[in-house]
Amino acid sequence: MFTKPLFGRDIPPACEYCSHVVRAADGLLRCTRRGAVQPFDHCRAFSYDPLRRVPRRRPQLPTFSPDDFKL
Ligand code: SF4
Repeated sequence: MFTKPLFGRDIPPACEYCSHVVRAADGLLRCTRRGAVQPFDHCRAFSYDPLRRVPRRRPQLPTFSPDDFKL
């Protein structure tokens, strides 16, 4: 049993990475408890599956030149 949650405690619940969901052949999500669900839905039975979550990419940082820092 894990004592520390994987990838932090601040992951919002979503059906997209719940262990009760199955991705159907048509691309829709089917919950074993509630049927068809949207990726952003969630319920009290949410069970986090870290292998299903795809982390968001970090935004590109702007590039600066030395002239940007001159007074
Ligand atoms: S409806 Fe609840 S149990 Fe079903 S996939 Fe979404 S969070 Fe998981």
